[in-house]
Amino acid sequence: MPNWRFWEPSSTPPEPAPPERAAVPGRAPLPPPRQIAQAADPAAAAKLTALRRRRESMVYDLERAEAARRPDNPWSERIALLDESQATVTQDLAELAAEPHQPSWPLPPTPVTDIWSEATEPVTVTFRIGDEAFQFAEAIDWDQRGGPVVRGDLQQLAGDATRLVPADTPPERRAALAQHLVDSVYAFAVGLRDRVLEGEAPPASITLADLAEPCPICGGWQEWTGACPECAARVYRRQRLRAEAARITAERAAEEEDRHKWSERLPQARRRLADLDAEIAKLTDPA
Ligand SMILES: [Zn+2]
Repeated sequence: MPNWRFWEPSSTPPEPAPPERAAVPGRAPLPPPRQIAQAADPAAAAKLTALRRRRESMVYDLERAEAARRPDNPWSERIALLDESQATVTQDLAELAAEPHQPSWPLPPTPVTDIWSEATEPVTVTFRIGDEAFQFAEAIDWDQRGGPVVRGDLQQLAGDATRLVPADTPPERRAALAQHLVDSVYAFAVGLRDRVLEGEAPPASITLADLAEPCPICGGWQEWTGACPECAARVYRRQRLRAEAARITAERAAEEEDRHKWSERLPQARRRLADLDAEIAKLTDPA
């Protein structure tokens, strides 16, 4: 509530005096500002102001150098956090290496038939795998403004690769195999599109088994080009984790180096501040 009865004394208690600055061992405590006598002539006053400004940054340096020698310092706090992150990354890498390999097996040699593709625009690719008829066509939004032609994405117009999953597939592996076949059939269609554009004949005697070779490394299935998406995903995750581990190691070393640098500065910081204080004392108390 505002004190509108101005004739009555305010009930606000007077502000407490600021506490005395604690003396730091090895360093003279700062004199309270009011006790510093002002220099008489303007030139000396300007010099004094400059010296006091320099003193502020020297005090900051000294405090940092002293902190660097204490057992619990800001650097070691950050290093502890980095060590926690590093432990998590190490654990993630170990889990990735120990990731169980699901079993895979060869698929029946159902022939891929009726392969047809034509290099007219848009490029269309059709083929059959068993009873399933597939058709893909390039999206017609490719760049026509001159320069290198940017091919449009291949879009699937007909066929369902999930119907190629053999009936005797164990239930727990059906989803993984279905997804692999969807991706592998698409990769096959892209391969056919690229061949017709290069003027090459389509590959001969391809079967469903070629679109899903068991991968000896991860236990998944490979595409007909030999590429294994599961292996590629694992390699990518491992690379990301290793890069993260290297970044944390570098950051930790930089923190340690910075702490060491400040710690080494302590004697010099004390000496410089003492010299400056002597200079200020000469200006403020010439007698
Ligand atoms: Zn693999």
